Amino acid sequence: MSSVALEHDQIVTLLQEKLGNAVVCDSSVLERARSDKSGKVSSGLPICVIEVTSTADVSQVLKIANATNTPVVVRGGGSGLAGGAIAGPGEISLSLEKMNRILEISVKDRFASVEAGVINNDLNEMAKKQNLWFTPDPASRAWSTIGGNIATNAGGLLCVKYGGTREVILELTVVLANGEIMTLGHKSIKGVTGYDLVSLFVGSEGTLGVITEARVKLRPVDHNPVWTISAVAENISDAIEAAQDTISNYLQPSILELIDNRAARHIAKYLELDFIKEDSAILIAQTDGPGSNSEALAIKQIWEKCGLTVEIETGREDLIQFRRSMHPALEKQGNVLIEDIAVPVSQLGKMFLEIRNIEQEFGIEIPTVAHAGDGNLHPNFIYSGSTVPEEIWLAADMMFKKALELGGTLTGEHGVGELKRHWLAVELGQSQFELQKKIKSIFDPKGLLNPGKVFEN
Ligand SMILES: Cc1cc2nc3c(=O)[nH]c(=O)nc-3n(C[C@H](O)[C@H](O)[C@H](O)COP(=O)(O)OP(=O)(O)OC[C@H]3O[C@@H](n4cnc5c(N)ncnc54)[C@H](O)[C@@H]3O)c2cc1C
Repeated sequence: MSSVALEHDQIVTLLQEKLGNAVVCDSSVLERARSDKSGKVSSGLPICVIEVTSTADVSQVLKIANATNTPVVVRGGGSGLAGGAIAGPGEISLSLEKMNRILEISVKDRFASVEAGVINNDLNEMAKKQNLWFTPDPASRAWSTIGGNIATNAGGLLCVKYGGTREVILELTVVLANGEIMTLGHKSIKGVTGYDLVSLFVGSEGTLGVITEARVKLRPVDHNPVWTISAVAENISDAIEAAQDTISNYLQPSILELIDNRAARHIAKYLELDFIKEDSAILIAQTDGPGSNSEALAIKQIWEKCGLTVEIETGREDLIQFRRSMHPALEKQGNVLIEDIAVPVSQLGKMFLEIRNIEQEFGIEIPTVAHAGDGNLHPNFIYSGSTVPEEIWLAADMMFKKALELGGTLTGEHGVGELKRHWLAVELGQSQFELQKKIKSIFDPKGLLNPGKVFEN
Protein backbone atom coordinates (compact mmCIF):
# COMPACT_ATOMS: atom_id res chain seq x y z
CA MET A 1 0.00 0.00 0.00
CA SER A 2 1.42 3.40 -0.98
CA SER A 3 1.93 6.01 1.70
CA VAL A 4 -0.81 8.25 0.23
CA ALA A 5 -3.32 5.36 0.29
CA LEU A 6 -2.26 4.60 3.88
CA GLU A 7 -2.84 8.20 4.91
CA HIS A 8 -6.29 8.08 3.33
CA ASP A 9 -7.07 4.85 5.15
CA GLN A 10 -6.04 6.46 8.40
CA ILE A 11 -8.29 9.44 7.74
CA VAL A 12 -11.19 7.10 6.99
CA THR A 13 -10.51 5.22 10.25
CA LEU A 14 -10.51 8.48 12.22
CA LEU A 15 -13.79 9.48 10.56
CA GLN A 16 -15.36 6.06 11.17
CA GLU A 17 -14.45 6.23 14.87
CA LYS A 18 -16.55 9.38 15.22
CA LEU A 19 -19.21 8.87 12.53
CA GLY A 20 -19.55 5.10 12.08
CA ASN A 21 -21.67 4.03 9.10
CA ALA A 22 -22.09 7.60 7.87
CA VAL A 23 -18.67 7.14 6.26
CA VAL A 24 -19.26 5.43 2.92
CA CYS A 25 -16.46 4.02 0.76
CA ASP A 26 -18.61 2.04 -1.67
CA SER A 27 -17.22 2.71 -5.15
CA SER A 28 -20.62 3.42 -6.77
CA VAL A 29 -21.30 6.10 -4.14
CA LEU A 30 -17.82 7.57 -4.61
CA GLU A 31 -18.32 7.56 -8.39
CA ARG A 32 -21.51 9.61 -8.06
CA ALA A 33 -19.65 12.24 -5.99
CA ARG A 34 -17.26 12.86 -8.92
CA SER A 35 -19.82 14.78 -10.96
CA ASP A 36 -22.78 17.12 -10.84
CA LYS A 37 -24.92 18.33 -13.77
CA SER A 38 -22.25 20.62 -15.22
CA GLY A 39 -20.74 17.92 -17.43
CA LYS A 40 -17.52 18.16 -15.37
CA VAL A 41 -16.16 14.99 -13.80
CA SER A 42 -13.29 15.04 -11.29
CA SER A 43 -10.05 13.24 -12.11
CA GLY A 44 -10.75 10.31 -9.77
CA LEU A 45 -12.63 8.96 -6.76
CA PRO A 46 -12.72 10.95 -3.49
CA ILE A 47 -11.48 9.31 -0.28
CA CYS A 48 -15.01 8.76 1.01
CA VAL A 49 -18.51 10.20 1.07
CA ILE A 50 -19.83 11.16 4.49
CA GLU A 51 -23.60 11.11 4.77
CA VAL A 52 -24.03 13.36 7.80
CA THR A 53 -27.29 13.50 9.73
CA SER A 54 -26.65 16.41 12.12
CA THR A 55 -24.78 19.68 12.58
CA ALA A 56 -22.68 17.90 15.20
CA ASP A 57 -21.64 15.32 12.55
CA VAL A 58 -20.55 18.13 10.21
CA SER A 59 -18.54 19.68 13.02
CA GLN A 60 -16.79 16.34 13.67
CA VAL A 61 -15.94 15.94 9.98
CA LEU A 62 -14.49 19.43 9.72
CA LYS A 63 -12.47 19.03 12.94
CA ILE A 64 -10.88 15.85 11.54
CA ALA A 65 -10.39 17.42 8.10
CA ASN A 66 -8.75 20.44 9.73
CA ALA A 67 -6.46 18.28 11.88
CA THR A 68 -5.41 16.14 8.92
CA ASN A 69 -5.37 18.91 6.27
CA THR A 70 -7.93 17.04 4.20
CA PRO A 71 -9.99 19.03 1.66
CA VAL A 72 -13.80 18.80 1.95
CA VAL A 73 -16.28 19.26 -0.90
CA VAL A 74 -19.81 20.04 0.28
CA ARG A 75 -22.68 18.45 -1.63
CA GLY A 76 -26.43 18.92 -1.61
CA GLY A 77 -28.52 17.40 -4.40
CA GLY A 78 -25.63 17.46 -6.90
CA SER A 79 -27.76 19.32 -9.45
CA GLY A 80 -25.31 22.22 -9.79
CA LEU A 81 -24.35 23.44 -13.24
CA ALA A 82 -20.95 24.93 -12.34
CA GLY A 83 -19.01 21.91 -11.08
CA GLY A 84 -19.12 23.20 -7.49
CA ALA A 85 -19.98 19.91 -5.79
CA ILE A 86 -17.62 17.56 -7.60
CA ALA A 87 -15.08 15.79 -5.38
CA GLY A 88 -11.83 14.17 -6.49
CA PRO A 89 -8.78 12.28 -5.23
CA GLY A 90 -7.64 13.19 -1.73
CA GLU A 91 -10.95 14.92 -0.93
CA ILE A 92 -13.86 14.10 1.38
CA SER A 93 -17.30 14.48 -0.18
CA LEU A 94 -19.60 15.80 2.57
CA SER A 95 -23.19 14.99 1.64
CA LEU A 96 -26.02 16.91 3.33
CA GLU A 97 -28.74 14.86 1.59
CA LYS A 98 -29.72 12.99 4.76
CA MET A 99 -30.13 16.21 6.75
CA ASN A 100 -33.61 16.51 5.31
CA ARG A 101 -35.89 17.34 8.23
CA ILE A 102 -38.28 20.26 8.17
CA LEU A 103 -37.91 21.44 11.77
CA GLU A 104 -40.67 24.04 12.05
CA ILE A 105 -43.15 25.99 9.99
CA SER A 106 -44.47 29.05 11.79
CA VAL A 107 -47.63 30.73 10.57
CA LYS A 108 -47.28 33.38 13.28
CA ASP A 109 -43.81 34.44 12.20
CA ARG A 110 -44.08 33.23 8.57
CA PHE A 111 -40.90 31.22 8.42
CA ALA A 112 -39.69 27.67 7.98
CA SER A 113 -36.75 26.24 9.80
CA VAL A 114 -35.10 23.43 7.83
CA GLU A 115 -32.04 21.26 7.66
CA ALA A 116 -29.90 22.06 4.64
CA GLY A 117 -30.61 18.82 2.79
CA VAL A 118 -34.38 19.41 2.52
CA ILE A 119 -35.47 19.33 -1.13
CA ASN A 120 -36.96 22.64 -2.31
CA ASN A 121 -40.23 20.98 -3.47
CA ASP A 122 -40.62 19.08 -0.19
CA LEU A 123 -40.53 22.33 1.78
CA ASN A 124 -43.15 23.79 -0.54
CA GLU A 125 -45.43 20.78 -0.22
CA MET A 126 -45.26 21.02 3.57
CA ALA A 127 -45.65 24.83 3.63
CA LYS A 128 -48.67 24.62 1.32
CA LYS A 129 -50.54 22.67 4.01
CA GLN A 130 -50.36 25.85 6.08
CA ASN A 131 -51.20 28.15 3.15
CA LEU A 132 -47.62 29.35 2.84
CA TRP A 133 -44.95 28.95 0.15
CA PHE A 134 -41.21 29.31 -0.41
CA THR A 135 -40.58 31.58 -3.40
CA PRO A 136 -37.19 30.45 -4.86
CA ASP A 137 -38.17 28.24 -7.81
CA PRO A 138 -35.15 26.83 -9.65
CA ALA A 139 -36.21 24.46 -12.43
CA SER A 140 -34.31 21.83 -10.43
CA ARG A 141 -36.57 22.26 -7.41
CA ALA A 142 -37.59 18.59 -7.44
CA TRP A 143 -33.96 17.52 -6.75
CA SER A 144 -32.03 20.51 -5.41
CA THR A 145 -31.65 21.17 -1.68
CA ILE A 146 -32.33 24.33 0.27
CA GLY A 147 -28.63 24.32 1.31
CA GLY A 148 -27.57 24.11 -2.34
CA ASN A 149 -30.08 26.82 -3.29
CA ILE A 150 -28.58 29.08 -0.61
CA ALA A 151 -24.98 28.22 -1.50
CA THR A 152 -25.65 29.17 -5.15
CA ASN A 153 -28.22 31.92 -4.52
CA ALA A 154 -30.49 30.00 -6.87
CA GLY A 155 -33.12 31.79 -8.90
CA GLY A 156 -35.87 30.77 -11.26
CA LEU A 157 -38.74 32.05 -13.36
CA LEU A 158 -40.28 33.92 -10.42
CA CYS A 159 -37.17 36.01 -9.65
CA VAL A 160 -38.51 38.93 -11.67
CA LYS A 161 -41.13 39.49 -8.96
CA TYR A 162 -39.94 37.61 -5.89
CA GLY A 163 -36.14 37.85 -6.16
CA GLY A 164 -33.54 35.11 -5.66
CA THR A 165 -32.82 32.91 -2.64
CA ARG A 166 -30.90 35.72 -0.90
CA GLU A 167 -34.11 37.68 -0.34
CA VAL A 168 -35.67 34.99 1.85
CA ILE A 169 -32.92 33.97 4.26
CA LEU A 170 -33.27 35.11 7.87
CA GLU A 171 -30.80 32.95 9.75
CA LEU A 172 -28.22 30.25 9.00
CA THR A 173 -26.49 27.66 11.13
CA VAL A 174 -23.05 27.11 9.66
CA VAL A 175 -20.03 25.04 10.54
CA LEU A 176 -16.74 26.80 9.95
CA ALA A 177 -13.59 25.16 8.59
CA ASN A 178 -12.25 24.43 12.09
CA GLY A 179 -15.49 22.70 13.12
CA GLU A 180 -16.90 25.64 15.08
CA ILE A 181 -20.71 25.91 14.91
CA MET A 182 -22.13 29.41 14.48
CA THR A 183 -25.58 30.95 13.95
CA LEU A 184 -25.66 33.94 11.60
CA GLY A 185 -28.43 36.46 11.01
CA HIS A 186 -31.63 37.18 12.93
CA LYS A 187 -34.85 35.46 13.88
CA SER A 188 -36.67 38.76 13.38
CA ILE A 189 -37.57 39.98 9.89
CA LYS A 190 -35.44 43.07 10.45
CA GLY A 191 -31.96 43.15 11.92
CA VAL A 192 -28.80 45.08 11.08
CA THR A 193 -26.50 44.25 13.97
CA GLY A 194 -22.99 43.75 12.65
CA TYR A 195 -21.95 42.76 9.16
CA ASP A 196 -24.43 40.78 7.08
CA LEU A 197 -22.71 37.38 7.16
CA VAL A 198 -25.89 35.64 6.03
CA SER A 199 -25.65 37.46 2.71
CA LEU A 200 -21.96 36.60 2.50
CA PHE A 201 -22.79 32.90 2.85
CA VAL A 202 -25.55 33.12 0.24
CA GLY A 203 -23.81 32.31 -3.05
CA SER A 204 -20.55 31.27 -1.34
CA GLU A 205 -20.66 27.84 -3.05
CA GLY A 206 -19.30 25.84 -0.12
CA THR A 207 -16.07 27.84 0.08
CA LEU A 208 -16.63 29.62 3.43
CA GLY A 209 -18.33 26.98 5.59
CA VAL A 210 -21.05 24.35 5.58
CA ILE A 211 -24.64 25.51 5.89
CA THR A 212 -26.46 22.97 8.04
CA GLU A 213 -29.73 24.70 8.92
CA ALA A 214 -31.68 27.68 7.61
CA ARG A 215 -34.58 29.79 8.75
CA VAL A 216 -36.28 31.03 5.59
CA LYS A 217 -39.13 33.47 4.98
CA LEU A 218 -42.40 32.14 3.58
CA ARG A 219 -45.21 34.01 1.84
CA PRO A 220 -48.95 33.45 2.10
CA VAL A 221 -50.33 31.42 -0.80
CA ASP A 222 -52.16 33.72 -3.19
CA HIS A 223 -55.55 32.40 -4.33
CA ASN A 224 -56.17 34.95 -7.08
CA PRO A 225 -56.19 33.54 -10.61
CA VAL A 226 -52.84 33.49 -12.39
CA TRP A 227 -53.09 35.05 -15.84
CA THR A 228 -50.82 33.98 -18.70
CA ILE A 229 -49.97 36.38 -21.50
CA SER A 230 -48.23 34.89 -24.54
CA ALA A 231 -47.23 35.86 -28.04
CA VAL A 232 -45.22 34.55 -30.95
CA ALA A 233 -43.32 37.61 -32.20
CA GLU A 234 -42.27 37.92 -35.85
CA ASN A 235 -38.71 38.48 -34.74
CA ILE A 236 -36.71 38.58 -31.56
CA SER A 237 -36.33 42.38 -31.56
CA ASP A 238 -40.11 42.83 -31.24
CA ALA A 239 -40.22 40.31 -28.39
CA ILE A 240 -37.36 42.06 -26.56
CA GLU A 241 -38.97 45.47 -27.01
CA ALA A 242 -42.24 44.12 -25.58
CA ALA A 243 -40.42 42.65 -22.57
CA GLN A 244 -38.51 45.87 -21.95
CA ASP A 245 -41.64 48.00 -22.29
CA THR A 246 -43.39 45.78 -19.76
CA ILE A 247 -40.73 46.66 -17.21
CA SER A 248 -40.38 50.34 -18.12
CA ASN A 249 -44.16 50.76 -17.82
CA TYR A 250 -43.98 49.90 -14.10
CA LEU A 251 -45.71 46.54 -14.51
CA GLN A 252 -44.78 43.61 -12.29
CA PRO A 253 -45.26 40.21 -13.94
CA SER A 254 -44.41 37.20 -11.80
CA ILE A 255 -42.83 35.53 -14.84
CA LEU A 256 -41.46 37.12 -18.03
CA GLU A 257 -39.71 34.62 -20.29
CA LEU A 258 -38.28 34.82 -23.79
CA ILE A 259 -37.57 31.79 -25.98
CA ASP A 260 -35.61 32.33 -29.18
CA ASN A 261 -36.53 30.45 -32.34
CA ARG A 262 -33.63 27.99 -32.09
CA ALA A 263 -34.69 27.01 -28.57
CA ALA A 264 -38.37 26.90 -29.56
CA ARG A 265 -37.56 24.58 -32.47
CA HIS A 266 -35.79 22.07 -30.19
CA ILE A 267 -38.57 22.20 -27.58
CA ALA A 268 -41.30 21.81 -30.22
CA LYS A 269 -39.51 18.78 -31.64
CA TYR A 270 -39.09 17.28 -28.16
CA LEU A 271 -42.77 17.81 -27.31
CA GLU A 272 -43.86 16.73 -30.81
CA LEU A 273 -45.58 20.06 -31.49
CA ASP A 274 -45.76 22.05 -34.72
CA PHE A 275 -42.83 24.38 -35.04
CA ILE A 276 -43.26 28.13 -35.12
CA LYS A 277 -41.95 30.25 -38.03
CA GLU A 278 -38.24 30.87 -38.58
CA ASP A 279 -36.91 34.05 -36.95
CA SER A 280 -39.85 34.25 -34.59
CA ALA A 281 -39.55 34.28 -30.81
CA ILE A 282 -41.93 33.35 -28.00
CA LEU A 283 -42.70 35.67 -25.11
CA ILE A 284 -44.57 34.40 -22.05
CA ALA A 285 -45.59 36.36 -18.98
CA GLN A 286 -47.70 35.57 -15.96
CA THR A 287 -49.34 37.84 -13.43
CA ASP A 288 -50.49 36.91 -9.95
CA GLY A 289 -51.87 38.62 -6.88
CA PRO A 290 -54.97 40.77 -6.34
CA GLY A 291 -54.45 42.85 -9.52
CA SER A 292 -53.49 39.95 -11.75
CA ASN A 293 -56.28 40.45 -14.30
CA SER A 294 -55.81 44.20 -14.82
CA GLU A 295 -52.04 43.78 -14.89
CA ALA A 296 -52.35 41.06 -17.54
CA LEU A 297 -54.58 43.33 -19.65
CA ALA A 298 -52.06 46.16 -19.32
CA ILE A 299 -49.24 43.86 -20.45
CA LYS A 300 -51.35 42.70 -23.41
CA GLN A 301 -51.88 46.31 -24.46
CA ILE A 302 -48.17 47.07 -24.29
CA TRP A 303 -47.24 44.00 -26.31
CA GLU A 304 -49.85 44.84 -28.94
CA LYS A 305 -48.31 48.30 -29.28
CA CYS A 306 -45.08 46.48 -30.13
CA GLY A 307 -46.90 44.70 -32.97
CA LEU A 308 -47.43 41.35 -31.25
CA THR A 309 -50.56 39.22 -31.52
CA VAL A 310 -51.28 38.42 -27.92
CA GLU A 311 -53.22 35.69 -26.15
CA ILE A 312 -54.33 36.06 -22.57
CA GLU A 313 -55.91 33.34 -20.47
CA THR A 314 -55.95 32.06 -16.92
CA GLY A 315 -53.81 29.02 -16.19
CA ARG A 316 -51.91 27.80 -19.29
CA GLU A 317 -49.42 25.71 -17.34
CA ASP A 318 -48.70 24.03 -20.69
CA LEU A 319 -46.89 27.19 -21.83
CA ILE A 320 -44.76 27.26 -18.69
CA GLN A 321 -44.09 23.57 -19.23
CA PHE A 322 -43.02 24.38 -22.82
CA ARG A 323 -40.42 26.81 -21.38
CA ARG A 324 -39.34 24.32 -18.71
CA SER A 325 -38.81 21.65 -21.38
CA MET A 326 -35.75 23.47 -22.71
CA HIS A 327 -33.20 21.40 -20.80
CA PRO A 328 -34.58 17.90 -21.57
CA ALA A 329 -35.15 18.96 -25.19
CA LEU A 330 -31.51 19.94 -25.65
CA GLU A 331 -30.24 16.89 -23.77
CA LYS A 332 -31.86 14.82 -26.53
CA GLN A 333 -29.47 16.51 -28.98
CA GLY A 334 -26.23 15.78 -27.13
CA ASN A 335 -24.25 17.10 -24.17
CA VAL A 336 -25.18 20.62 -23.17
CA LEU A 337 -23.21 23.50 -21.68
CA ILE A 338 -25.86 25.77 -20.15
CA GLU A 339 -24.56 29.32 -19.83
CA ASP A 340 -25.98 31.87 -17.47
CA ILE A 341 -24.95 35.43 -18.30
CA ALA A 342 -27.03 38.38 -17.09
CA VAL A 343 -27.20 41.94 -18.42
CA PRO A 344 -29.31 44.97 -17.51
CA VAL A 345 -32.76 44.51 -19.08
CA SER A 346 -32.11 47.54 -21.32
CA GLN A 347 -29.15 45.67 -22.89
CA LEU A 348 -31.01 42.45 -23.80
CA GLY A 349 -31.28 43.37 -27.49
CA LYS A 350 -27.54 44.03 -27.80
CA MET A 351 -26.72 40.79 -25.97
CA PHE A 352 -28.91 38.75 -28.32
CA LEU A 353 -27.17 40.42 -31.30
CA GLU A 354 -23.79 39.46 -29.86
CA ILE A 355 -24.97 35.85 -29.44
CA ARG A 356 -26.06 35.77 -33.09
CA ASN A 357 -22.65 37.19 -34.11
CA ILE A 358 -20.85 34.53 -32.08
CA GLU A 359 -22.97 31.84 -33.76
CA GLN A 360 -21.80 33.10 -37.15
CA GLU A 361 -18.19 33.49 -36.14
CA PHE A 362 -17.94 29.95 -34.76
CA GLY A 363 -20.40 28.27 -37.14
CA ILE A 364 -22.47 26.94 -34.23
CA GLU A 365 -26.03 27.27 -33.02
CA ILE A 366 -26.69 28.81 -29.60
CA PRO A 367 -30.33 28.18 -28.60
CA THR A 368 -31.14 30.75 -25.93
CA VAL A 369 -33.88 31.28 -23.38
CA ALA A 370 -33.98 34.32 -21.14
CA HIS A 371 -35.58 35.36 -17.91
CA ALA A 372 -36.28 38.57 -19.83
CA GLY A 373 -37.71 40.42 -16.84
CA ASP A 374 -34.40 40.31 -14.98
CA GLY A 375 -31.97 40.15 -17.92
CA ASN A 376 -30.68 36.64 -17.18
CA LEU A 377 -29.95 34.66 -20.37
CA HIS A 378 -29.27 30.95 -20.73
CA PRO A 379 -27.44 30.49 -24.04
CA ASN A 380 -26.85 26.78 -24.62
CA PHE A 381 -24.03 25.01 -26.40
CA ILE A 382 -24.68 21.47 -27.63
CA TYR A 383 -21.63 19.27 -28.12
CA SER A 384 -20.66 15.65 -28.51
CA GLY A 385 -17.89 13.89 -26.59
CA SER A 386 -17.21 13.76 -22.88
CA THR A 387 -15.69 17.24 -22.42
CA VAL A 388 -16.64 20.68 -23.68
CA PRO A 389 -14.60 21.26 -26.88
CA GLU A 390 -12.04 24.11 -26.80
CA GLU A 391 -13.90 25.83 -29.67
CA ILE A 392 -17.01 26.10 -27.50
CA TRP A 393 -15.04 27.55 -24.60
CA LEU A 394 -13.65 30.16 -27.01
CA ALA A 395 -17.19 31.06 -28.07
CA ALA A 396 -18.30 31.16 -24.40
CA ASP A 397 -15.28 33.32 -23.56
CA MET A 398 -16.30 35.83 -26.20
CA MET A 399 -19.86 35.80 -24.87
CA PHE A 400 -18.75 36.42 -21.27
CA LYS A 401 -16.64 39.37 -22.39
CA LYS A 402 -19.53 40.87 -24.37
CA ALA A 403 -21.85 40.46 -21.35
CA LEU A 404 -19.32 42.28 -19.16
CA GLU A 405 -18.97 45.07 -21.74
CA LEU A 406 -22.74 45.54 -21.56
CA GLY A 407 -22.60 45.97 -17.78
CA GLY A 408 -23.53 42.36 -17.12
CA THR A 409 -22.13 39.36 -15.29
CA LEU A 410 -20.74 35.87 -15.91
CA THR A 411 -23.42 34.15 -13.92
CA GLY A 412 -26.89 35.24 -12.92
CA GLU A 413 -27.82 32.19 -10.83
CA HIS A 414 -25.73 29.06 -11.43
CA GLY A 415 -22.52 30.19 -9.72
CA VAL A 416 -18.83 30.16 -10.59
CA GLY A 417 -17.84 26.69 -9.33
CA GLU A 418 -15.04 25.13 -11.28
CA LEU A 419 -16.39 26.03 -14.69
CA LYS A 420 -16.07 29.81 -14.53
CA ARG A 421 -13.30 30.38 -11.98
CA HIS A 422 -10.96 31.27 -14.83
CA TRP A 423 -13.05 34.39 -15.60
CA LEU A 424 -13.66 35.54 -12.01
CA ALA A 425 -10.83 38.10 -11.87
CA VAL A 426 -11.85 39.43 -15.28
CA GLU A 427 -15.23 40.46 -13.91
CA LEU A 428 -14.18 41.51 -10.41
CA GLY A 429 -10.97 43.34 -11.32
CA GLN A 430 -7.69 42.45 -9.64
CA SER A 431 -8.08 44.35 -6.36
CA GLN A 432 -11.61 43.11 -5.65
CA PHE A 433 -10.50 39.61 -6.62
CA GLU A 434 -7.65 39.83 -4.05
CA LEU A 435 -10.05 41.19 -1.40
CA GLN A 436 -12.43 38.28 -2.00
CA LYS A 437 -9.56 35.80 -1.68
CA LYS A 438 -8.64 37.39 1.67
CA ILE A 439 -12.23 36.96 2.86
CA LYS A 440 -12.04 33.27 1.89
CA SER A 441 -8.77 32.89 3.83
CA ILE A 442 -10.27 34.43 6.99
CA PHE A 443 -12.99 31.78 7.00
CA ASP A 444 -10.83 28.96 5.69
CA PRO A 445 -7.16 29.72 6.43
CA LYS A 446 -5.92 26.31 5.24
CA GLY A 447 -7.96 26.43 2.02
CA LEU A 448 -9.69 23.11 2.76
CA LEU A 449 -13.28 23.98 1.83
CA ASN A 450 -14.08 23.32 -1.82
CA PRO A 451 -10.53 24.01 -3.02
CA GLY A 452 -10.32 24.96 -6.70
CA LYS A 453 -13.96 26.08 -6.76
CA VAL A 454 -14.72 29.77 -7.37
CA PHE A 455 -10.98 30.55 -7.03
CA GLU A 456 -8.33 28.68 -9.00
CA ASN A 457 -5.88 26.83 -6.75
C1 LIG B 1 -32.25 20.71 -15.17
C2 LIG B 1 -31.66 21.75 -14.25
C3 LIG B 1 -32.31 22.95 -14.10
C4 LIG B 1 -31.77 23.94 -13.27
N1 LIG B 1 -32.45 25.11 -13.14
C5 LIG B 1 -31.96 26.06 -12.33
C6 LIG B 1 -32.66 27.29 -12.18
O1 LIG B 1 -33.74 27.49 -12.73
N2 LIG B 1 -32.12 28.22 -11.37
C7 LIG B 1 -30.95 28.03 -10.72
O2 LIG B 1 -30.51 28.93 -9.99
N3 LIG B 1 -30.26 26.88 -10.85
C8 LIG B 1 -30.74 25.90 -11.63
N4 LIG B 1 -30.04 24.72 -11.76
C9 LIG B 1 -28.77 24.54 -11.06
C10 LIG B 1 -28.86 23.88 -9.66
O3 LIG B 1 -29.99 23.06 -9.56
C11 LIG B 1 -28.85 24.95 -8.56
O4 LIG B 1 -27.60 25.60 -8.54
C12 LIG B 1 -29.16 24.39 -7.15
O5 LIG B 1 -29.29 25.47 -6.26
C13 LIG B 1 -28.07 23.45 -6.63
O6 LIG B 1 -28.58 22.78 -5.49
P1 LIG B 1 -28.00 21.34 -5.06
O7 LIG B 1 -28.62 21.01 -3.76
O8 LIG B 1 -28.17 20.37 -6.14
O9 LIG B 1 -26.48 21.72 -4.85
P2 LIG B 1 -25.17 20.97 -5.34
O10 LIG B 1 -25.15 20.84 -6.81
O11 LIG B 1 -24.96 19.76 -4.54
O12 LIG B 1 -24.06 22.06 -4.90
C14 LIG B 1 -23.99 23.31 -5.54
C15 LIG B 1 -22.94 24.17 -4.83
O13 LIG B 1 -23.38 24.50 -3.50
C16 LIG B 1 -22.49 23.98 -2.52
N5 LIG B 1 -23.34 23.48 -1.43
C17 LIG B 1 -24.37 22.60 -1.52
N6 LIG B 1 -24.94 22.43 -0.32
C18 LIG B 1 -24.25 23.22 0.55
C19 LIG B 1 -24.35 23.45 1.96
N7 LIG B 1 -25.28 22.87 2.69
N8 LIG B 1 -23.46 24.30 2.53
C20 LIG B 1 -22.52 24.92 1.78
N9 LIG B 1 -22.36 24.72 0.46
C21 LIG B 1 -23.23 23.88 -0.15
C22 LIG B 1 -21.68 22.92 -3.23
O14 LIG B 1 -20.41 22.76 -2.65
C23 LIG B 1 -21.60 23.48 -4.64
O15 LIG B 1 -20.58 24.44 -4.71
C24 LIG B 1 -30.55 23.71 -12.58
C25 LIG B 1 -29.91 22.47 -12.72
C26 LIG B 1 -30.45 21.51 -13.55
C27 LIG B 1 -29.74 20.21 -13.68
